[in-house]
Amino acid sequence: MTGKVYLVGAGPGDPELLTLKAIRLLRIADVVLHDALVSDEILRLARPHAQLIAVGKRVGDRRITQRETNRQMIDSAQWANIVVRLKGGDPLVFGRAAEEMAALREAGVEFEIVPGITAAIAAAAQARIPLTDREGAPSVTFITAHKAAGDYPVDFTSIASTNGTLAIYMPGGSYGEISRQLMTAGLPATTPCLMVSNASRENQALQWSDLGSLQSMIPPEAPALLIVGEVARCRDESETVAWLQSQNEVLQAAGQEA
Ligand code: SAH
Repeated sequence: MTGKVYLVGAGPGDPELLTLKAIRLLRIADVVLHDALVSDEILRLARPHAQLIAVGKRVGDRRITQRETNRQMIDSAQWANIVVRLKGGDPLVFGRAAEEMAALREAGVEFEIVPGITAAIAAAAQARIPLTDREGAPSVTFITAHKAAGDYPVDFTSIASTNGTLAIYMPGGSYGEISRQLMTAGLPATTPCLMVSNASRENQALQWSDLGSLQSMIPPEAPALLIVGEVARCRDESETVAWLQSQNEVLQAAGQEA
């Protein structure tokens, strides 16, 4: 009789952004296999005698392959009742969940997914900007241009043509390249951008910019997420615009009444 594996989203870092289910499972898990992105504060919620195993892509100097992680998950389920595979953000967003689910299916191990708050949602909340907007952002696209995410090429032309918000994961050191590609694809240099580093953690940092100046900016500390689109207009500026619009409406309404 094998145990059950839960692929659990740990959210962006703040333990208060965990789901109740994630906390309950952490408290009863026999084994917790976690990524490097998962904060220590969250790991402290695990049962005191639980086995905590770091399986991030890199542990110390050693690279851990996806195959090794899959194996550890399956091996743990042979003796443990409850195995939590804890991933940063949401397990199904750039989380290699497809490979892990395939391995579990093949090994006949029962599993369940517990969603978490993905980085784009957390970053927008911290910056107090919407990801979609009735007036200027009909969609939001989660993308990554990072090679580690897969071999599929990112089609910047079709992405730029959505006119919606772009939430770019794992921008790494390629801010210049991303901005060049998006401008070549037709986005204006004045398109607002926001970089959110360490969203919801103590060392969170926000940097407001535009596509044109992105190339000359010092990349923020990882993990960081890049939001591109009208929604990323500097908060203070957009609040000022909203305030001016409401003032205009008040003035217009007053004019109509007069
Ligand atoms: N499954 C995760 C994403 C893993 S890919 C999720 O749903 O959020 C790793 C990338 O996620 C990082 O390179 C960064 O772009 C983003 N990320 C994760 N946590 C973050 C955080 N606290 N602040 C900003 N970006 C974060």
